[in-house]
Amino acid sequence: MVTASVPSHQGMQAGTGTGVNFLPGPILLLGAPGVGKGTQAKALRAHWGIPQISTGDLLRDNVVRGTELGRAAKLVMDSGELVSDSIVNAMVANRLGEADVRQGYILDGFPRTLNQADWLDEQLATESALAGLEVHAEQFRAGSTLPVVAVAMQVPYTLLLRRITGRRTCPACKRIYNIYFQPPAYDLVCDIDGTPLTQRADDVEEVFAERLRAYEELTAPVVEHYRSLGRFAEVDGDQTVDRVTSDILATVQRLRG
Ligand code: AMP
Repeated sequence: MVTASVPSHQGMQAGTGTGVNFLPGPILLLGAPGVGKGTQAKALRAHWGIPQISTGDLLRDNVVRGTELGRAAKLVMDSGELVSDSIVNAMVANRLGEADVRQGYILDGFPRTLNQADWLDEQLATESALAGLEVHAEQFRAGSTLPVVAVAMQVPYTLLLRRITGRRTCPACKRIYNIYFQPPAYDLVCDIDGTPLTQRADDVEEVFAERLRAYEELTAPVVEHYRSLGRFAEVDGDQTVDRVTSDILATVQRLRG
């Protein structure tokens, strides 16, 4: 567990870390479903002003828009299994081609298999080799060519279960509630706009069990992969949101040190 701390992210200037041109670079948030990766990725995005790249969100966006990719992914997602590496890698490759990743980015929910991790490692190695050759002179000092740092979050199983099965979302404003920890004021409608809340199809208990099984079998080895490469740390996810954010900020700064 990480014990070092920095002041809360709230009220701090976006784009700063230690305060002097800190380049966050690529950051991986690892951990089981329900550990808080999405929440923390948003907090880091607000703090550093770098994008959150959530493969789950990108896939759900394709499902909502009814794209071919979305139609192919939906059944797999609803069953709690993983979408194929080739689909997900291509989606991430596209996203990493956008200009806003130059200072760094937070990968949330990717990589989830060793194949995805190998693919990412190769992409990043190619990018920094090109930067080293100064082929891409402008990118040379860019955060996107820094080696990846990986932060794995941990939370006890019973808490994961309640975080996932209790999660409800407002389809209108996207605000997230939890019927156990953060319920809406009235019944199951949004406090802000009164819209009935919905539950993600893959957040029901049976599907959660499959997601956790997929995590143990396919994603836990990814955590070990990054542990063995160094620039890796674990953070206790069973604390207040702000406290976890502070721990992650301190961890990334230390790993970049
Ligand atoms: P998440 O919102 O990260 O929990 O992802 C929801 C679902 O999207 C997962 O249960 C998978 O079916 C799919 N998914 C998200 N990210 C990946 C990934 N990196 N590889 C394969 N499937 C993914």
